[in-house]
Amino acid sequence: MTAHREQAKHRLYLEHALGQGQAIDLSRDHAHYLFNVLRLNTGQRVALFNGTQGEWQAEIVATGKRGGTLRCLTQSAPQRMPPDLWLVFAPIKKTRTDFIVEKAAELGAARILPVQTDFTNSERIRQDRLQAHALEAAEQCGGTYVPQVAQLQPLSRLLDGWDTSRALIFADEGLSGAPAPETPLPPAPAAILIGPEGGFSPAERARLRAMDHVTPVPLGPRILRADTAAVAALTLWQATRGDWS
Ligand code: SAH
Repeated sequence: MTAHREQAKHRLYLEHALGQGQAIDLSRDHAHYLFNVLRLNTGQRVALFNGTQGEWQAEIVATGKRGGTLRCLTQSAPQRMPPDLWLVFAPIKKTRTDFIVEKAAELGAARILPVQTDFTNSERIRQDRLQAHALEAAEQCGGTYVPQVAQLQPLSRLLDGWDTSRALIFADEGLSGAPAPETPLPPAPAAILIGPEGGFSPAERARLRAMDHVTPVPLGPRILRADTAAVAALTLWQATRGDWS
Protein backbone atom coordinates (compact mmCIF):
# COMPACT_ATOMS: atom_id res chain seq x y z
CA MET A 1 0.00 0.00 0.00
CA THR A 2 1.33 3.45 -0.79
CA ALA A 3 1.72 6.02 1.93
CA HIS A 4 -0.94 8.06 0.20
CA ARG A 5 -3.56 5.34 0.48
CA GLU A 6 -2.89 4.96 4.17
CA GLN A 7 -3.91 8.57 4.80
CA ALA A 8 -7.14 9.05 6.69
CA LYS A 9 -10.28 9.81 4.69
CA HIS A 10 -11.85 11.97 7.35
CA ARG A 11 -10.55 15.30 8.58
CA LEU A 12 -11.42 16.89 11.87
CA TYR A 13 -10.69 20.30 13.32
CA LEU A 14 -9.85 20.17 17.03
CA GLU A 15 -8.86 22.81 19.53
CA HIS A 16 -6.04 20.73 20.92
CA ALA A 17 -2.25 20.64 20.69
CA LEU A 18 -1.03 18.28 17.95
CA GLY A 19 2.40 16.66 17.78
CA GLN A 20 4.27 13.38 17.55
CA GLY A 21 2.72 10.88 19.99
CA GLN A 22 0.25 13.44 21.36
CA ALA A 23 -2.77 11.77 22.98
CA ILE A 24 -6.11 13.50 22.53
CA ASP A 25 -9.15 12.84 24.70
CA LEU A 26 -12.25 13.40 22.60
CA SER A 27 -15.23 15.51 23.54
CA ARG A 28 -18.63 13.87 23.57
CA ASP A 29 -19.55 15.54 20.26
CA HIS A 30 -16.40 14.44 18.48
CA ALA A 31 -16.74 10.90 19.86
CA HIS A 32 -20.34 10.79 18.61
CA TYR A 33 -19.27 12.04 15.18
CA LEU A 34 -16.36 9.62 14.77
CA PHE A 35 -17.85 6.49 16.30
CA ASN A 36 -21.61 6.80 15.69
CA VAL A 37 -21.87 8.92 12.55
CA LEU A 38 -18.72 7.81 10.69
CA ARG A 39 -18.65 4.43 12.43
CA LEU A 40 -14.87 4.46 12.81
CA ASN A 41 -13.21 2.02 15.15
CA THR A 42 -10.01 1.40 17.09
CA GLY A 43 -6.99 1.22 14.78
CA GLN A 44 -8.56 3.40 12.10
CA ARG A 45 -7.16 6.78 11.20
CA VAL A 46 -8.40 10.30 11.08
CA ALA A 47 -6.64 13.47 9.96
CA LEU A 48 -6.54 16.32 12.47
CA PHE A 49 -5.76 20.02 12.28
CA ASN A 50 -6.05 22.81 14.81
CA GLY A 51 -5.45 25.89 12.68
CA THR A 52 -1.83 26.39 13.70
CA GLN A 53 0.12 23.11 13.64
CA GLY A 54 -0.59 21.64 10.20
CA GLU A 55 -2.39 18.37 9.56
CA TRP A 56 -1.66 15.22 11.51
CA GLN A 57 -2.58 11.59 10.95
CA ALA A 58 -3.98 10.14 14.14
CA GLU A 59 -4.98 6.65 15.16
CA ILE A 60 -8.04 5.81 17.19
CA VAL A 61 -6.77 4.08 20.34
CA ALA A 62 -9.96 3.97 22.41
CA THR A 63 -13.63 4.40 21.63
CA GLY A 64 -16.55 5.08 23.93
CA LYS A 65 -20.08 6.45 24.04
CA ARG A 66 -19.10 9.73 25.61
CA GLY A 67 -15.44 9.96 24.67
CA GLY A 68 -12.44 8.21 23.26
CA THR A 69 -8.76 8.72 22.60
CA LEU A 70 -6.71 9.48 19.52
CA ARG A 71 -2.94 9.44 19.18
CA CYS A 72 -1.04 11.57 16.67
CA LEU A 73 1.30 9.61 14.41
CA THR A 74 2.90 11.83 11.77
CA GLN A 75 2.39 15.26 10.30
CA SER A 76 0.81 14.87 6.85
CA ALA A 77 0.76 18.55 5.82
CA PRO A 78 2.52 21.65 7.10
CA GLN A 79 0.56 24.59 8.47
CA ARG A 80 -0.54 26.80 5.62
CA MET A 81 -1.82 30.31 6.25
CA PRO A 82 -3.94 32.10 3.66
CA PRO A 83 -2.81 35.51 2.39
CA ASP A 84 -3.87 38.38 4.63
CA LEU A 85 -7.16 39.05 2.84
CA TRP A 86 -10.43 39.78 4.65
CA LEU A 87 -13.92 39.51 3.27
CA VAL A 88 -16.28 42.21 4.55
CA PHE A 89 -19.86 41.63 3.44
CA ALA A 90 -23.44 42.54 4.26
CA PRO A 91 -25.43 39.43 5.23
CA ILE A 92 -28.27 38.49 2.92
CA LYS A 93 -30.74 35.60 3.13
CA LYS A 94 -29.67 32.77 5.40
CA THR A 95 -28.70 30.16 2.81
CA ARG A 96 -26.90 32.72 0.66
CA THR A 97 -25.02 34.06 3.67
CA ASP A 98 -24.00 30.50 4.55
CA PHE A 99 -22.79 30.11 0.97
CA ILE A 100 -20.68 33.28 1.19
CA VAL A 101 -18.98 32.11 4.39
CA GLU A 102 -18.35 28.63 3.02
CA LYS A 103 -16.87 29.94 -0.25
CA ALA A 104 -14.76 32.55 1.53
CA ALA A 105 -13.21 29.78 3.64
CA GLU A 106 -12.58 27.62 0.56
CA LEU A 107 -11.13 30.52 -1.43
CA GLY A 108 -8.68 31.41 1.32
CA ALA A 109 -10.03 34.45 3.14
CA ALA A 110 -8.11 35.00 6.38
CA ARG A 111 -11.06 36.68 8.18
CA ILE A 112 -14.74 37.06 7.46
CA LEU A 113 -16.52 40.17 8.75
CA PRO A 114 -20.29 40.57 8.39
CA VAL A 115 -21.38 44.22 8.46
CA GLN A 116 -24.68 46.08 8.71
CA THR A 117 -25.01 48.60 5.93
CA ASP A 118 -27.77 51.12 5.21
CA PHE A 119 -29.61 48.63 3.00
CA THR A 120 -28.72 45.40 4.84
CA ASN A 121 -31.60 42.93 4.68
CA SER A 122 -30.60 41.06 7.78
CA GLU A 123 -30.56 42.56 11.27
CA ARG A 124 -29.11 39.54 13.01
CA ILE A 125 -26.76 36.72 12.25
CA ARG A 126 -25.87 33.58 14.15
CA GLN A 127 -22.13 34.06 14.40
CA ASP A 128 -21.64 30.61 15.94
CA ARG A 129 -23.46 28.95 13.04
CA LEU A 130 -21.45 30.89 10.47
CA GLN A 131 -18.22 29.98 12.28
CA ALA A 132 -19.26 26.32 12.13
CA HIS A 133 -19.77 26.67 8.37
CA ALA A 134 -16.26 28.11 7.96
CA LEU A 135 -14.88 25.23 9.99
CA GLU A 136 -16.70 22.58 7.97
CA ALA A 137 -15.52 24.18 4.75
CA ALA A 138 -11.91 24.05 6.00
CA GLU A 139 -12.36 20.39 6.97
CA GLN A 140 -13.65 19.41 3.56
CA CYS A 141 -11.31 21.50 1.38
CA GLY A 142 -8.08 20.25 2.93
CA GLY A 143 -7.23 23.57 4.52
CA THR A 144 -5.23 23.74 7.73
CA TYR A 145 -6.58 27.16 8.65
CA VAL A 146 -10.07 28.21 9.75
CA PRO A 147 -10.96 31.86 9.09
CA GLN A 148 -12.49 33.64 12.05
CA VAL A 149 -16.03 34.95 11.51
CA ALA A 150 -16.46 38.24 13.38
CA GLN A 151 -19.64 39.38 15.09
CA LEU A 152 -21.97 41.55 13.03
CA GLN A 153 -21.00 45.25 13.32
CA PRO A 154 -22.07 48.43 11.58
CA LEU A 155 -19.99 49.21 8.48
CA SER A 156 -19.60 52.79 9.72
CA ARG A 157 -17.97 51.60 12.94
CA LEU A 158 -15.64 49.28 11.06
CA LEU A 159 -14.60 52.19 8.82
CA ASP A 160 -14.11 54.49 11.84
CA GLY A 161 -11.50 52.14 13.26
CA TRP A 162 -9.96 51.04 9.96
CA ASP A 163 -6.21 50.42 10.03
CA THR A 164 -5.11 52.36 6.95
CA SER A 165 -2.24 49.99 6.23
CA ARG A 166 -4.94 47.56 5.00
CA ALA A 167 -6.28 48.38 1.53
CA LEU A 168 -10.06 48.23 1.20
CA ILE A 169 -11.23 46.97 -2.18
CA PHE A 170 -14.74 48.30 -2.58
CA ALA A 171 -16.89 46.34 -5.05
CA ASP A 172 -18.93 49.27 -6.30
CA GLU A 173 -21.94 48.31 -8.39
CA GLY A 174 -22.05 51.92 -9.53
CA LEU A 175 -18.93 51.13 -11.57
CA SER A 176 -20.40 48.06 -13.30
CA GLY A 177 -19.60 48.28 -16.97
CA ALA A 178 -16.61 50.56 -16.35
CA PRO A 179 -13.34 49.24 -17.78
CA ALA A 180 -11.32 47.03 -15.46
CA PRO A 181 -8.78 49.09 -13.49
CA GLU A 182 -5.43 49.47 -15.22
CA THR A 183 -3.55 49.10 -11.97
CA PRO A 184 -3.71 45.68 -10.34
CA LEU A 185 -5.72 45.19 -7.18
CA PRO A 186 -3.89 46.28 -4.01
CA PRO A 187 -1.71 43.58 -2.39
CA ALA A 188 -2.08 42.17 1.12
CA PRO A 189 -2.94 43.26 3.70
CA ALA A 190 -6.25 43.89 1.99
CA ALA A 191 -10.00 43.50 2.44
CA ILE A 192 -12.81 43.09 -0.05
CA LEU A 193 -16.13 44.85 0.63
CA ILE A 194 -19.36 43.48 -0.88
CA GLY A 195 -22.73 45.15 -0.40
CA PRO A 196 -26.20 43.68 0.16
CA GLU A 197 -28.86 43.00 -2.47
CA GLY A 198 -29.91 46.64 -2.28
CA GLY A 199 -26.37 47.84 -2.93
CA PHE A 200 -24.67 50.69 -1.07
CA SER A 201 -26.48 53.92 -0.15
CA PRO A 202 -25.30 57.19 -1.74
CA ALA A 203 -23.94 58.27 1.67
CA GLU A 204 -21.93 55.05 2.06
CA ARG A 205 -20.60 55.29 -1.47
CA ALA A 206 -19.55 58.92 -0.92
CA ARG A 207 -17.78 58.09 2.33
CA LEU A 208 -15.98 55.08 0.86
CA ARG A 209 -14.87 56.94 -2.24
CA ALA A 210 -13.45 59.78 -0.16
CA MET A 211 -11.22 57.46 1.90
CA ASP A 212 -7.54 57.23 0.89
CA HIS A 213 -6.99 53.53 1.35
CA VAL A 214 -10.19 52.55 -0.52
CA THR A 215 -10.02 51.28 -4.11
CA PRO A 216 -13.45 51.17 -5.80
CA VAL A 217 -13.56 48.40 -8.42
CA PRO A 218 -16.06 47.16 -10.99
CA LEU A 219 -16.72 43.41 -11.29
CA GLY A 220 -17.65 43.40 -14.95
CA PRO A 221 -20.55 44.67 -17.03
CA ARG A 222 -23.31 42.73 -15.24
CA ILE A 223 -24.74 43.32 -11.76
CA LEU A 224 -23.91 40.21 -9.75
CA ARG A 225 -25.83 38.92 -6.79
CA ALA A 226 -23.95 39.57 -3.57
CA ASP A 227 -22.95 35.91 -3.17
CA THR A 228 -21.62 35.74 -6.75
CA ALA A 229 -19.84 39.07 -6.27
CA ALA A 230 -18.06 37.76 -3.15
CA VAL A 231 -16.81 34.65 -4.97
CA ALA A 232 -15.78 36.64 -8.06
CA ALA A 233 -13.88 39.30 -6.10
CA LEU A 234 -12.06 36.74 -3.92
CA THR A 235 -11.10 34.81 -7.05
CA LEU A 236 -9.83 37.90 -8.87
CA TRP A 237 -7.71 38.93 -5.91
CA GLN A 238 -6.30 35.43 -5.32
CA ALA A 239 -5.48 35.14 -9.04
CA THR A 240 -3.55 38.42 -9.16
CA ARG A 241 -2.30 39.00 -5.60
CA GLY A 242 -2.92 35.82 -3.65
CA ASP A 243 -1.95 32.17 -3.52
CA TRP A 244 -3.00 31.09 -7.03
CA SER A 245 0.50 31.28 -8.37
N1 SAH B 1 -29.21 46.40 -6.14
C1 SAH B 1 -27.94 46.88 -6.61
C2 SAH B 1 -26.95 45.73 -6.82
C3 SAH B 1 -26.41 45.12 -5.60
S1 SAH B 1 -25.44 43.75 -5.98
C4 SAH B 1 -28.14 47.56 -7.96
O1 SAH B 1 -29.05 47.19 -8.66
O2 SAH B 1 -27.32 48.42 -8.27
C5 SAH B 1 -24.71 43.36 -4.44
C6 SAH B 1 -23.26 43.77 -4.26
O3 SAH B 1 -22.42 43.02 -5.13
C7 SAH B 1 -22.94 45.21 -4.57
O4 SAH B 1 -23.20 46.07 -3.50
C8 SAH B 1 -21.47 45.17 -4.93
O5 SAH B 1 -20.65 45.17 -3.79
C9 SAH B 1 -21.35 43.83 -5.62
N2 SAH B 1 -21.49 43.91 -7.08
C10 SAH B 1 -22.39 43.24 -7.85
N3 SAH B 1 -22.19 43.48 -9.16
C11 SAH B 1 -21.12 44.31 -9.24
C12 SAH B 1 -20.40 44.90 -10.32
N4 SAH B 1 -20.73 44.68 -11.59
N5 SAH B 1 -19.35 45.70 -10.03
C13 SAH B 1 -18.99 45.93 -8.74
N6 SAH B 1 -19.62 45.39 -7.68
C14 SAH B 1 -20.67 44.59 -7.92
